[in-house]
Amino acid sequence: MPKIILLNEDTACRIAAGEVIERPVSILKELVENSLDAGADLVNIAIANGGIGAIEVVDNGCGISQEDTPLAFHRHATSKIKSSADLEDIHTLGFRGEALPSIASVAHLTIKTKVPTNQEGFRMVIQGGQVLQNGPVGCPVGTMISVKDIFFNTPARRKHLKSKTTEGGLIADFVYKMALIKPQTKFIFNHNGREIFRSSGSGKLRDVLASVYDVRAAKMMLPIAGEEDGVKVEGYISKPELSRSTRQHITVAVNGRLVHSSAVNTALEQAYRGMLTVGRYPVAVILIWLPPDQVDVNVHPAKMEIKMANDEQVMNLVTSATNKVLRETDLIPRKSKLPADSEPYKLYFPRDIKQYNRPIEGNWESKQVFTAACIPAVPALTQGGEGELSKDQVANAGCDLLPTHTTEANYACSQLAEVAIDYENNSDFPELRVIGQLMNTYILTQTGDGFFVVDQHAAHERILFEKFLDRLNRSIPEVQYLLTPVNISLRLHEKELLQEYAANLKAVGFVLEDFGRDSYLLRGIPVDCSPGQSEQLIADLAETIIERGKLGDAENKHAVAALLACKAAIKAGERLSMEAMQMLIARLARADEPYTCPHGRPTTISFTRRELDVMFKRT
Ligand code: ADP
Ligand code: MG
Repeated sequence: MPKIILLNEDTACRIAAGEVIERPVSILKELVENSLDAGADLVNIAIANGGIGAIEVVDNGCGISQEDTPLAFHRHATSKIKSSADLEDIHTLGFRGEALPSIASVAHLTIKTKVPTNQEGFRMVIQGGQVLQNGPVGCPVGTMISVKDIFFNTPARRKHLKSKTTEGGLIADFVYKMALIKPQTKFIFNHNGREIFRSSGSGKLRDVLASVYDVRAAKMMLPIAGEEDGVKVEGYISKPELSRSTRQHITVAVNGRLVHSSAVNTALEQAYRGMLTVGRYPVAVILIWLPPDQVDVNVHPAKMEIKMANDEQVMNLVTSATNKVLRETDLIPRKSKLPADSEPYKLYFPRDIKQYNRPIEGNWESKQVFTAACIPAVPALTQGGEGELSKDQVANAGCDLLPTHTTEANYACSQLAEVAIDYENNSDFPELRVIGQLMNTYILTQTGDGFFVVDQHAAHERILFEKFLDRLNRSIPEVQYLLTPVNISLRLHEKELLQEYAANLKAVGFVLEDFGRDSYLLRGIPVDCSPGQSEQLIADLAETIIERGKLGDAENKHAVAALLACKAAIKAGERLSMEAMQMLIARLARADEPYTCPHGRPTTISFTRRELDVMFKRT
């Protein structure tokens, strides 16, 4: 073993930087935290090329005196704590005195700063930890720090950076989150000279929600509040109608510090249980206040994780505050009513099979449902014929022939009509004869020696999943053009990301047209998706693509196909016509993997006659 030596300051800094400064957003985070600690109520952020090119933060805080400025770049030099005892009582975001020296050791940094008591400001230029220039400068009270050539002397780290779009997306998300947890601070954010975001600094969280999302989303947010034994919770949560496909839109702060907290996520999910479907998450801003001695912020290099003395108490408070509000509010989404004079039941099959509308009248008595089993498993409709069922068949099908009233389910069903003749039945899938629908959710079917219960959503999801995947793999989009194009407004960085992935979107079947600034005109969506869901669809897809990157590899294609399938599939609770159920089963029989949905849940559960016989004590 060679002799032990003390590392010099420069090397120690670079090692420390390895922990704190991982990517451009970590630099921005440290600079913004310093601005807030300095009491700034205006933080002006500008970045170039996703932050890889340059990052600049200007604040109107207290500034640093001329004599302290060089000190600020020494390791463990801080104005925020005096001794280890202060670690128990932290009121600032920073306290380790590591950020500035770390940043200056891996980049080119310029600082201009002025305190109110001085006539002139002070400027320093530091490169890789070496001071190149310093001297007086004219500048307003506050601090400006600009950082360039990030990781110029740590090529390994530089190589690890993602694309400028991804890095820029992380930065934008951080800025949005900071604005949300600091409504009283005005944030301005520019990217490549263009303003992306601005918050008012009005102190009203709802105002920030409207700037980060949009006015409509902000209106769907409900304020929460709770307090118990010195622990306080406040913030906003979304009505269940407003949900997202990732937890990315749950923003949590503890004592004003942005943190990742799986405890709070779990507490929220608990409160929404039964209100959101699997894989959907609320939009939320949760601000938690605890006595400082109950939080340990010194457990993570970037201080993104914290330890709370009483996790459980905080979780319970979040769950109960959320529950209370969710319960008190009228949460039933308003469905557009059918026009009074509209025909009551309509089946239509607009694709492959010639388009036609055929209202079915009748008075459906419950006893008729028992005759439904007389209908052949695959009706004329799916055998390439004109799709006309005889009057008797229609009548015999009983009340289960009534299709659902929502256009969404109607739409999903109609798309099933294209059971391709050239597909073979999956050899090990049994022949199932549809008996009827249970609880508008399950399809009851009979086979030779037993019966199967099919989950209508899972089954449809499987069918669509295989179809979307096939289209993605072969890059043959099938587009349905919308009668009225939909204006999609996005957060600016989302728009840039989508632009980068335009080819992918086209491959799935989206037709988007640039509509200036932060919006797109959506002219077409993939066949099988319901036009009514267009907006939600593109928002969810944007999230999936942003999270996963390009659709190159199999895993990402799988994710996108599964997302579209889940969106487009018939939902539980939707009433299906007999024909729709028969088509669904016929199509499922042709799937490559008919027994599970793309998420791995079963599509069918089988019961044998023997099981029934045993239950009825026939044996
Ligand atoms: P820490 O924030 O942990 O104290 P930093 O390295 O981030 O360590 O900053 C060192 C010191 O420089 C801070 O303690 C503070 O006194 C001063 N400082 C840094 N940024 C600013 C700023 N924007 N405004 C005023 N003072 C600042
Ligand atoms: Mg700091």
